[in-house]
Amino acid sequence: MFRADPAGLAYACAAVVFAVVATVTWRRRASNPAVAAALVAAMLGACWWSLADAVGVAAVDETVSAVGWLAVFPGLGVAVIAFACLAGCLARPPWAPSRRLVLALAAEPAVVSLLAATNPAHQLVYRGAGAAELTGSAGWTYGPFFWVHSAYSYTVMLVGIVMVAHAWWTAPAPFRAQRLSMLVAVLVPAAANIVNLFDGLPLDVDPTPIGLSVTGVIIAWSVFRQDLITFTPVARGLILEHISDAIIAVGPAGRVIDANPAGVRLVRRLHPGRDVDLVGAVARDLVGAMSTTDDGATEVRVTLDGRPAELHVRSSALVGRKGRPLGSVLVIRDVTEVKAQSRRLEEANAQLTQQLATIERLRADLEEQASRDSLTGLHNRRYMVQRLEVLLARARDAARPLSVVLLDIDRFKRINDHHGHLAGDAVLVEAAGRIAAAAPPGALVARWGGEEFFVALPGADLAAGLAFAEQVRRDVEDRGIAVGDAVVPCTVSGGVATYPASGATAAQLFHAADLSLYEAKATGRNRVLAQHPTVPAPRRPSGGEQAPGLAAAQPTGSGAGRTSPDRVADQH
Ligand code: GH3
Ligand code: MG
Ligand code: MG
Repeated sequence: MFRADPAGLAYACAAVVFAVVATVTWRRRASNPAVAAALVAAMLGACWWSLADAVGVAAVDETVSAVGWLAVFPGLGVAVIAFACLAGCLARPPWAPSRRLVLALAAEPAVVSLLAATNPAHQLVYRGAGAAELTGSAGWTYGPFFWVHSAYSYTVMLVGIVMVAHAWWTAPAPFRAQRLSMLVAVLVPAAANIVNLFDGLPLDVDPTPIGLSVTGVIIAWSVFRQDLITFTPVARGLILEHISDAIIAVGPAGRVIDANPAGVRLVRRLHPGRDVDLVGAVARDLVGAMSTTDDGATEVRVTLDGRPAELHVRSSALVGRKGRPLGSVLVIRDVTEVKAQSRRLEEANAQLTQQLATIERLRADLEEQASRDSLTGLHNRRYMVQRLEVLLARARDAARPLSVVLLDIDRFKRINDHHGHLAGDAVLVEAAGRIAAAAPPGALVARWGGEEFFVALPGADLAAGLAFAEQVRRDVEDRGIAVGDAVVPCTVSGGVATYPASGATAAQLFHAADLSLYEAKATGRNRVLAQHPTVPAPRRPSGGEQAPGLAAAQPTGSGAGRTSPDRVADQH
């Protein structure tokens, strides 16, 4: 039925290779359906074409051979159209041919294939006596539709070749080899076919089968070794298509030259109800102030879908090779929600800061209140005890003296009894004010309790402590205490102790000052005393005489039995 013809064998081998490539490609179609579909179609078309050629060359029966020659057309048509589509897919990813385009491209090959399949219409494709009777192809000549079809096929091929060549020329490095393979794969059989078409070879051999075999091998190489299906640069195009940022390219004349789908959507939302034809429109009309050819970012307030919105616009100037301005690309992002959120966050932060400040103020107020005596406004005993520890620590660190003074109003009970408790309160308030006014800066003045007051004098030695106590005593004695319009005659007694001479701890100092106060009371009141530091604390004497080791300050020019501050130093 078939004779062993080398050309027929070459065609058959090419057909097998094409079929294998088509099968493998079909299996891998998931990663890139458009490229895979075009390649499978091209391979199946080429397979059919090669088989038809093989039958034409090698069939013993002349009619069978003639049918083979005529059967070339559908395969050839499919291969050529599919190749053009494949070229488009590779050149402009993620482009894929529309159904309408494929049908339009297929119209001419379909007509020619129909003519070739119909007797006697096939004579429009191949003429001659042999062709008329479908016998030996020796006397066949090309009919008009053969030339129409050749012209059409080569035009489509040429467009595909130009696209692949351009894709190869402009491809990023990883894709160059792939594109070059594709280019060579198409050019080889095309060149062979052209040579054959015009009887350019002196040999009586058609080089087309060899060319087609080479194509099959190259494409198989590309699919298996260069990963043609999975490794195609679809990402960049897809990113632009699917990114949520609006991207609008503006030409040097300020007209829109391109926009991604998000850009189209944004412009429609900016101009609801207006039929906007984006490409070619004046950018300023569409996006207003956002349209700029300068590099930089800005934020603009607009109305989107009838609501106020904020857009972040980044403009990048496009500059040609020799610094020629080519326009700009605008990348626009709707930041309304982000901005609103950050504003809400800022407001919440400000509120929180304010609340924290209020809480801190209240806490400080409370602390202050808790540290004060409600009647006199002086610090209370609790605060005084804490604070004295701090002052003592400082005195210790700085190796400086610190005197403590206990002052007690004499016969206060009588004041209460004679003038009433309210007057007694007023006396306490007035006395507190007088003590605080007399105290030097940095002194700690507190109400110890009842009608007793405590003063700590950082830096004051025993003499200075006694002098302070004496100053208060004399002031009260001389002026009495004013209560309203009346003056209540009044005196105070005091006990003084000093760090480090009288003791090292707060308790020791209190104890020493308390003993001195006791002594001052016991020895006649209206006087201040200090305990001698070198003598151990005496048991409270029961009598009115002065205990040994006690120093005293006494009012100048009055009161027998009292010592002057000057004598205090002598006693020490
Ligand atoms: P001495 O000279 O020995 O200190 O005699 P004194 O009367 O001052 O001392 P005493 O301890 O006997 O009495 C103190 C009085 O102070 C008794 C108490 O009723 C009165 N007192 C204590 N706290 C207050 C107060 O806040 N207001 C008034 N009005 N009186 C108070
Ligand atoms: Mg008293
Ligand atoms: Mg008292």
